[in-house]
Amino acid sequence: MARHIYVHNPFCARKCPYCDFYSVADTSESNAFYKAALREAKLLGEIMKDSSGKDHINDRDDRDTVYFGGGTPSVPDSRLICDLLSGILDAFSISSDAEITIEVNPSSVTDEKLSDYKLAGFNRISAGVQSLDDEVLKRLGRLHDSKDAVDAIKRITAAGFNNVSADLITGVPGGTLDGIKKDINTFYSLGVKHISTYSLMLEEGTVFFERYGKTIEDLMPPEKEREMYHGTRDCLRSLGYETYEISNSALPGYRSIHNSAYWNSCEYLAVGAGSHGYLGNVRYGHEDDIHAYIEEMNSVSEEDYRAFLEGNDRLSSLYVEEILSEEDKMREVPFLRLRTDEGILLDEFKNVFGVEFEDVFGQAVKTNIEKGLLERKERTLRLTRSGLDLANKVIEDFL
Ligand code: SF4
Repeated sequence: MARHIYVHNPFCARKCPYCDFYSVADTSESNAFYKAALREAKLLGEIMKDSSGKDHINDRDDRDTVYFGGGTPSVPDSRLICDLLSGILDAFSISSDAEITIEVNPSSVTDEKLSDYKLAGFNRISAGVQSLDDEVLKRLGRLHDSKDAVDAIKRITAAGFNNVSADLITGVPGGTLDGIKKDINTFYSLGVKHISTYSLMLEEGTVFFERYGKTIEDLMPPEKEREMYHGTRDCLRSLGYETYEISNSALPGYRSIHNSAYWNSCEYLAVGAGSHGYLGNVRYGHEDDIHAYIEEMNSVSEEDYRAFLEGNDRLSSLYVEEILSEEDKMREVPFLRLRTDEGILLDEFKNVFGVEFEDVFGQAVKTNIEKGLLERKERTLRLTRSGLDLANKVIEDFL
């Protein structure tokens, strides 16, 4: 059974005005944080030694994955990152064909860091470009301009990384569909294999929430936002990218195995303050607090950590989000799988849960097929093009 590990790096060079991920712009604790993260990885490795992982549905690719996200993992000293990766590879006996990703930003990724990442075993880079339009980048408060971004992608490929992903944000005031298409074409010509496109969201507590309003309608009319969404996907497909998830597209063979594991209800382990994991029946999280994390990881016993993972809330910097019943697990299937182009595979659902999907969710299926939001093709159920526009509403019907 494949193992999936997410590491949350909580450091950034500066806080972007739209971002609500947990990160701080002060790296003075980075040494202590990575020492604590290494101890957490070793503890988890010991605890998981005899576990083969739980059954999950629809595992297309059984490779292990490790994903360093954040925050900006290219901000701290690369030795800290590489030492932690080395500890994780050892602690979990990660297989040599694993997908190992690190997120980087154009303003902080240097040639030396790229060379260190390569040597340490990273084989996939996700670059936080967000736009190649300087006006849009300025509005987003990014530290790089379009030239830095293009230069970073060229340096990433020159360092030997073939599997490169880039992020784009759509719906930014002043941004246009033509601008997004131009960016996608540039990515394609630079050899970018995977593109994530996220609509700008106004999250409570961010500078943008105060500046622009509370909902997406405060940024642009919903029809324009949808036109941009579908125009972006049409452009991606015209270049050969498979739009395999609501926000993610990839050239054939370059889908994110790590992210696919989330949508396939696989278990994943979490390392670092602000990270979230899923093991057995338990979805859990680490508090957004570097100090509490460092203190706890330096002192917690294996026994207490193990008890926590079994659902006993005994730690102060980790918390149980939810203990899932069998019904909860069934409800998660439409929630996670309707995001993907494959949709819900009815045979796999039956294999895992022992019941037909429609015996459990018949009414929601019927209503949404009648509305033209869901379609059935043989033994799969997926969103139609109009269903994609109302994905949250469709999913609500299954909860
Ligand atoms: S660099 Fe990324 S994680 Fe850091 S503040 Fe900006 S958007 Fe958030």
